Amino acid sequence: ALEVTDLTKQFGGGRRFPGGRNHVVKAVDQVSLKLVRGETLAVVGESGSGKSTLARMLVGLEKPTSGQMRIGGKDAGALAREGARAFGRVIQYVFQDPVASLNPRKTIRETLETPLRVLCGYDAAKRRDRMQDLLDAVQMPKDTLERYPHEFSGGQAQRIAIARALAAEAEILILDEPVSALDVSVQAQVLLLLSRLKAEFDLSYLFISHDLAVVEAIADRVAVMHFGKVVEEASAERLFSQPEHDYTKRLLASAP
Ligand code: ATP
Ligand code: MG
Repeated sequence: ALEVTDLTKQFGGGRRFPGGRNHVVKAVDQVSLKLVRGETLAVVGESGSGKSTLARMLVGLEKPTSGQMRIGGKDAGALAREGARAFGRVIQYVFQDPVASLNPRKTIRETLETPLRVLCGYDAAKRRDRMQDLLDAVQMPKDTLERYPHEFSGGQAQRIAIARALAAEAEILILDEPVSALDVSVQAQVLLLLSRLKAEFDLSYLFISHDLAVVEAIADRVAVMHFGKVVEEASAERLFSQPEHDYTKRLLASAP
C-alpha cells in the first residue's frame, strides 16, 4: 500500500540568515518503510524523533529533501504533479487534536461535503447518502451535521475527523497520535472504532504513537524511530517479546 525508501527531511541549512548560525536538523533521516495492504504499521519513538514529519511528507504537506515514496501504487512525485488533491484520494490523515483539525467556521455537513464533492465527485443525492453512512460508521447522530466543531467533546470531534478522512475513500489512513489528547476511557472507544473501521472499509493504517500499550494492542508491525532514523522494524509480536536494538530495549523498559 505504501513504501518509502531512504526518505529524508532536513530543516534549516538554508541561506536565510547570512552570518547567523545555520542549525540543521535531519528530522527524518534515510527512512525506509513498507506498509502492507490491510495491515497496521505503528511508528513509535520519543518526542522529536521525526514521526510527525514523516506523516506530513506522506500526506503531501511537507516536501521530502530526498528519497522516494510510493503511495497506493503511485509514485509521490507523480501524485504531486497531479496536484494537492491527488494525495487525498489515496491517503488521508487524522491528527492528535481533533478540534484543531476541524474548521471551526464550517458545520460538520460542510466539512464532510468537501471531500465527497471535490475528491469523489459525487452529486448532491449521493453526498447525502454517503454522509449518513459516514455518521453511522463513526456512531454519531444525524443532527451532528448542522453543528459546529466546538459543540463536540474531544472523542466526538475525533469521530468526526475520522469520518472526514473516510469520506475521501482512500485506502491508507495516517493516524498521528489519534487518541493521545483524549481521556483514557474515550481512548479505548476510539481505538475500538478504528479497528472496526479498518475491517469494514478495508483500510491500511500507519499508526503513530508514543503509547506502547496502545501499539501492542493495535499494530501488526512496529517501526522504532530514534533521532530521525528507523532503528528497528519487526512484527509487533517479535518487537515486544525480543527487542534487538538497544534503543528499543530502553524504550520498552521505560514504558509504564
Ligand atoms: P512528538 O512526539 O513530540 O510529536 P515527533 O516525533 O512527531 O515528536 P517531529 O514533529 O517530526 O517529531 O519533529 C522532529 C524534529 O524536526 C524536531 O527536532 C523538530 O524540532 C524538527 N522540526 C519539525 N518541524 C519543523 C519545522 N517546520 N522547522 C524546523 N524544524 C522542525
Ligand atoms: Mg508528532
